[in-house]
Amino acid sequence: MRIVEVFDSLQGEGVWAGVPMTFIRLAGCNGPQLGLGCVSWCDTVGSWAAGGGRLWEQEELLCRVRLPRVCVTGGEPLLQADGVADLVAALVSRRVKVHLETNGTLDWPRGRAAPAWVTVSPKPPLYDVATGVAGLAAEVKVIYDAEMDAMSPTAASRLVGRIVAQAPGAAVCIQPEASGGAPLARRAAAFVVGHPEWRLSLQVHKILGIR
Ligand code: SF4
Repeated sequence: MRIVEVFDSLQGEGVWAGVPMTFIRLAGCNGPQLGLGCVSWCDTVGSWAAGGGRLWEQEELLCRVRLPRVCVTGGEPLLQADGVADLVAALVSRRVKVHLETNGTLDWPRGRAAPAWVTVSPKPPLYDVATGVAGLAAEVKVIYDAEMDAMSPTAASRLVGRIVAQAPGAAVCIQPEASGGAPLARRAAAFVVGHPEWRLSLQVHKILGIR
């Protein structure tokens, strides 16, 4: 697989925030080609190029993993879906749990064992999630960006409700877009208070100034 970086840190976002994981950031993102709205605030622009990073053999990766949980992220990791599925199978046999973070535009390969935890973060303007990966989602992460913030609370609630309905039963995390700083985070918090079935996700790694 073509990989931009591999590092150990704490999961900074969502339900598993604070838990140590080995992060594997894959090269390539389909966001720019699809015209996703996240390209204007993406915090991993360095992962976009499909030819970025370098090729890693699976054995090399397996030797590098020392923690009980691995987070496969990107870019959009399902652009290399077969390699990710091979890695999941290899890590499961070593009792390592794999978390996958995807924008939801691509499906998980049919018939392959799924990761232990799938986080789908649907992106504007359509927020569509491919059916197969929606069925695997344990967590839906919705970015509370300036456009959502500009909506009335009713319209924003309706939009989030429509987004998360694609993955029934998944935990819902509302995450303020980082460039909005503390003011946007406070408004996102107020939004979540009105929806006790959701939770606020802050990017703990950015607050701590770690990777
Ligand atoms: S899908 Fe993710 S990596 Fe790609 S542009 Fe959007 S936020 Fe960035």
